[in-house]
Amino acid sequence: MKQSQTLIPTLREVPADAEVKSHQLLLRAGFIRQNASGMYSFLPLGKKILQNIESVVREEMDAAGAVEMLMPALQSAELWEESGRWGTYGPELMRMKDRHNREFALGATHEEMVTSLIRDEIKSYKRLPLTVYQIQSKFRDEKRPRFGLLRGREFLMKDAYSFHSNQESLDAMYDRLFQAYITIFRRCGLNFRAVLADSGAMGGKDNHEFMVLSEIGEDTIAYSDSSNYAANLEMAAVVTTYDQKEHSGQELTRVETPHQKIDVNPEETLKSMLFMADEQPVLVLVRGDHEVNDVKVKNAVSAQIAELATAEETSKWLNVQADSIGPVKVSDEVRVIADHAVKAMGDIVCGANEEGVHWTNAKLDRDFSVMQFEDLRFIQEGDLSPDGKGTILFAKGIEVGHVFKLGTRYSEAMNSTFLDENGRAQPMIMGSYGIGVSRTLAAIAEQYNDDNGLVWPVNLAPYDLHVIAVNMKDETQSQIAGELYKLLTDYRYQILFDDRMERAGVKFADSDLIGLPVRITVGKKASEGIVEVKIRKTGETHDVQKEELTDKLQ
Ligand code: ATP
Ligand code: MG
Ligand code: MG
Ligand code: MG
Repeated sequence: MKQSQTLIPTLREVPADAEVKSHQLLLRAGFIRQNASGMYSFLPLGKKILQNIESVVREEMDAAGAVEMLMPALQSAELWEESGRWGTYGPELMRMKDRHNREFALGATHEEMVTSLIRDEIKSYKRLPLTVYQIQSKFRDEKRPRFGLLRGREFLMKDAYSFHSNQESLDAMYDRLFQAYITIFRRCGLNFRAVLADSGAMGGKDNHEFMVLSEIGEDTIAYSDSSNYAANLEMAAVVTTYDQKEHSGQELTRVETPHQKIDVNPEETLKSMLFMADEQPVLVLVRGDHEVNDVKVKNAVSAQIAELATAEETSKWLNVQADSIGPVKVSDEVRVIADHAVKAMGDIVCGANEEGVHWTNAKLDRDFSVMQFEDLRFIQEGDLSPDGKGTILFAKGIEVGHVFKLGTRYSEAMNSTFLDENGRAQPMIMGSYGIGVSRTLAAIAEQYNDDNGLVWPVNLAPYDLHVIAVNMKDETQSQIAGELYKLLTDYRYQILFDDRMERAGVKFADSDLIGLPVRITVGKKASEGIVEVKIRKTGETHDVQKEELTDKLQ
């Protein structure tokens, strides 16, 4: 590609509103441009690298046995009503009406659409398992779009959905895709960890996030220095000491905030914390004591639970919790709580009041215990890891992927069933698996840069070689550079050829900023047949006879 014929609008200055390195450099090096808050155009270089990441994702997804397809981004509200999420998804879902006043959403995710599709196409256990995926723009009206591609309102996601006739089959696919994700993020050269996005106390096997370790990450992960334990801090709260008293017949009536005693961020009015007590998982609901908005959490929680649980589970939970709920915002935290509530269902029901945290084993009815708030706290650095191996350390992480066992949440709500060996209708068992492709691009940029610009990993770089003619007005230089461009292209290198009538300084600075792995400079020594090869990463340079170049590049 001749640089004079493409669009790489580099900037000398650091754009004012770009706070993090990846955002600054992707703008400065001409990879992306912002159109509106959280919405970006991928310019030619950005598009190339996006394609390279997509190829890695496709190869590994295909190898794991998933098949690619493409669903519409525009989804009818009816689908979301079927699953119950039209009412519960909240303001992140971009909603709109068509000319007939029918409601639609721009897909934030595709569980509903894929469930309805597979419901209509697959009727028998013989056709299962099936895993489909797509790479597509997703839309989320994020409260705080920021950090460029890291938190966009329109962003590229690979989303996959698996359908199974039994739990073992789901477990097997989950493991395969978990491994595929590890391979994908390794091939992207990222320093990452797979963390429990669910409490280890609950088994924690069915919900993992892939976190790129980075100071600018919005999540905190707690990990053990000498085992594989790693969890999103949201989920990694444990209690190390507690005072357990037996109480009988005590009602669980109110959920009150103990946040003066437990260090809860007052911005987050509602949080779930999962504590380990006697190896029993305990759900703790904490409500902030300040008003946020007028949405009743009662509705929010019941709706969220309805979304995540069977009808039986929902009524069980709400019977206990119906009075316990006051006004708070509908948020991701509510979702998290509902999720835990449902998972805890059947074993543990719990709540909290001024005294402490109460829980009961639903099968030992009415046998409550109290944990004093003073004895509860979030996991801290230096704590013993919950698996007993090693000490807890904290790190910041960027969530680039998330794998999740959905079970029958969507298939039951949307009546997606298959006939089993005995001809009985059963709900399909599902998994969902996401990768933020555009976020991954930014995470790579965040890890691969230096003072002069981006330094792409060799296998992902938008081009392999940057050929620069220092002075295009010099006939020898422009001719030799042009010949090399042609020759190396014949050798199947991907080449960016800087044929612009720019000063050498501008060309070199742009080249460093763009960050292709190898630069070949055709300058004054061209008349002697010598060109300079520079390795971007190390900065080392070699003078090479142009005839030897192809050998040297091997
Ligand atoms: P986050 O916690 O960062 O808001 P999420 O948990 O809401 O992400 P998922 O629903 O798990 O996201 O979506 C799958 C993947 O899509 C995420 O792991 C992430 O890589 C990516 N992703 C989610 N939201 C965004 C966004 N606003 N911009 C870019 N990528 C995103
Ligand atoms: Mg989110
Ligand atoms: Mg998340
Ligand atoms: Mg997630």
